[in-house]
Amino acid sequence: MTDPRPRRLVVRGAVRLGDRTHRRVDVSVVAGRIAAIEAARATPHARPADLALDAEGLLLAPGFVDLQCNGAAGIDLAVAPHRLWEVAAALPRWGVTSWLPTIISSPPSVTAAALATLGGGPGDGAVVAQPLGLHLEGPFLSPARRGAHASRHLRHPDPSTAAGWSAATGVAMVTIAPELPGALDLITSLVAREVVVALGHSDASADVAAAAVDRGATMVTHLFNAMAPLHHRAPTLVAQALADERLSAGLIADGLHVDPLVVTAAWRALGERLVLVTDAVGALGAPPGRRTIGDGVGTVTIDDRGVRLADGTLAGSNLSMDAAVRNLAAWTGCGLERAVAAATTAPARVLGRTALTRVVEGAPADLVLLTPGGEVAATIVGGAVAHRSEAA
Ligand code: ZN
Repeated sequence: MTDPRPRRLVVRGAVRLGDRTHRRVDVSVVAGRIAAIEAARATPHARPADLALDAEGLLLAPGFVDLQCNGAAGIDLAVAPHRLWEVAAALPRWGVTSWLPTIISSPPSVTAAALATLGGGPGDGAVVAQPLGLHLEGPFLSPARRGAHASRHLRHPDPSTAAGWSAATGVAMVTIAPELPGALDLITSLVAREVVVALGHSDASADVAAAAVDRGATMVTHLFNAMAPLHHRAPTLVAQALADERLSAGLIADGLHVDPLVVTAAWRALGERLVLVTDAVGALGAPPGRRTIGDGVGTVTIDDRGVRLADGTLAGSNLSMDAAVRNLAAWTGCGLERAVAAATTAPARVLGRTALTRVVEGAPADLVLLTPGGEVAATIVGGAVAHRSEAA
């Protein structure tokens, strides 16, 4: 076992994803940042490093950013918010280097516990996918489009419930149904507190969605799922998401939430505005079976049909981000580079954190090494190796 936090790490011989010259590079990482990117040296030990990672034959990409992750590795945040850092520790296995721990509509005590856990930090020496703040998916959602959210936790937008939500207190994103009474004013207020507002679990018409965008909403939560479907004469939130260049849209590319053909159609319309999200629950990386994913949600069954309630309603996913990237590349033919961008630069742009996903000198060393087929070989967070497979 190597020291997870070397003073200096050199990633040797990878090719940067998208580099048409296929030039191999050595990447030096010092104190968590990319210190140098140089042509690979012929003699592997020409330069001393505290830790060297042989990346011959691998592609170097920015680490993945997941804006919607409810859990993993058998842990559901809405059930066990105090175990947030254990989820953070599991995610690098799938290439994720930063994420928004996502809380579905829950009692306020769950959100409070998640915020307290987030504020407490990961503990000494832990190398984890960095949480960039919570994504509160609810409780201000449409009862008609609640999906797996429990009816009893849904609320009309309420400034007092949301009073403590801001970027400064650890809330990065809130999903709201904009057609609910008071929603537009709450959007204005949240945007003023630097919270990214996503539209979702919504029956909104395109007009109402456009009004929400005018108030500062910039994101759509899991496009197509839990919203009025696209209608060509009565446009809905879906049409607004596809047409309005001010909006990015999350998409769950597991082939279950959205048909691969519709994923491709959305990709053609959205391009760089398409954001891959997993919407993963504790089922990701856990054995098939039955489990509870949140208060009042009921029991879900996990099998090859995904994560579903007894009535068949999808309740999150067991999709990993690297699988989502491979699916998007395969279904659309867009190539690995553009599919990776949908899991890196696209979500980073939504958060206003574009520096996180630039592989350049001086940038944070949040990196993933991929096989040419898009499998994760190693994940580096803040200059430390967080995950390493046989391929690295
Ligand atoms: Zn949802």
